[in-house]
Amino acid sequence: MQQAIPYGKQFISEEDIRAVTETLKSDFLTQGPKINEFEEKFAAYIGCDYAVAVANGTAALHLSALALNVNSQSKVITTPITFAASANCVRYCGGEAVFVDIDASTALIDINKIKALLNASPKGTYEGIIPVDFAGLPVNLEALHQLANEYGLWIIEDACHAPGGYFIDSKGVKQNCGNGVYADLAIFSFHPVKHIACGEGGMITTNNKALYESLLLLRTHGITKDHSLLHENHGGWYYEMQELGYNYRLSDINAALGISQLKRADEGLEKRKAIAKKYDEAFANSSIKIIKPAEGFNHAYHLYVIQVEDRKGLYDHLRRHNIFAQVHYIPIPMQPYYKQLGYNAEHYPNANDYYEKCLSIPMYPTLTGQEQNFVIQTILEFNK
Ligand SMILES: *Cc1c(COP(=O)(O)O)cnc(C)c1O
Repeated sequence: MQQAIPYGKQFISEEDIRAVTETLKSDFLTQGPKINEFEEKFAAYIGCDYAVAVANGTAALHLSALALNVNSQSKVITTPITFAASANCVRYCGGEAVFVDIDASTALIDINKIKALLNASPKGTYEGIIPVDFAGLPVNLEALHQLANEYGLWIIEDACHAPGGYFIDSKGVKQNCGNGVYADLAIFSFHPVKHIACGEGGMITTNNKALYESLLLLRTHGITKDHSLLHENHGGWYYEMQELGYNYRLSDINAALGISQLKRADEGLEKRKAIAKKYDEAFANSSIKIIKPAEGFNHAYHLYVIQVEDRKGLYDHLRRHNIFAQVHYIPIPMQPYYKQLGYNAEHYPNANDYYEKCLSIPMYPTLTGQEQNFVIQTILEFNK
């Protein structure tokens, strides 16, 4: 029997192991020099001014919502086709998540539908938008930014799927996902199935200094020792808790792994693109539907999603051949927690249709040519 092939998988090198071991022998296990180093290198990779390392992607979303003052009066727009955390962060702050259906041609939130919603509501009804670069396909943040500005909304870009993805804007400038040019904040996850693995880890990126400083405070209990920020000073031991923050720190152990992984980020991205190209070609003359990026949009391929009529049939067929495909995602309004809040999944027909058909097939840098051939052959023998 063929070894199990998952839909996604981390790659830990000997160099990664050495980096972590060195940190274990150092003086700092948390909030030491590796945090700054990881933040600086990640900011340089993405091309933004500031980066704040945090415990995971969900903590990154929660802190971002807090920094933008999401509260019980807030209504925030997001997509139904994403991981639950993209909407949950609004709920953590007591706000209301408002889902806007996806565009069937991209599986990303439909900007025209956001526009229609904003047009139909008194100004000030909505505070912000959390778009998601789903599967690794960049959202058209330039268009979204223009709309958000018109209505006074902020943007948190959930770029968990898209480190290394980019689009070319109307001025011909390359805009990396998470670079903060068209969004107030962007967030990333370093969960093992994502591009860069820390075990657990997350990052918030921004070009906004005030938000950056607020995030630093919120990450460690709202406590500061920074002399320039203190209200009083009783001596060397003195610190102040100025806000209600959290312990959302990343450890130096995780950061050391992240720094080491970041060195191979471009290499991993190229492998993902090569795998995607081979799938594209293999399915070109079949009934399998795939989403191709529009001109100027550079996909980061966290996921490779196909759409088929008999999704459950294909999923079970692959399982029988030890190929573990996955479904991304069950529309959030369909989840029992959101249902009991009064959400009705029927209001998002494109998301529902997508959910009926979508399947994420194996996509990770260490997938071998032979394994990919086997995946393609197994899919095509079920789904011509
Ligand atoms: C993984 C993921 C998150 C959450 O990240 P964690 O590090 O697992 O907390 C949020 N949004 C999206 C789109 C994700 O894929």
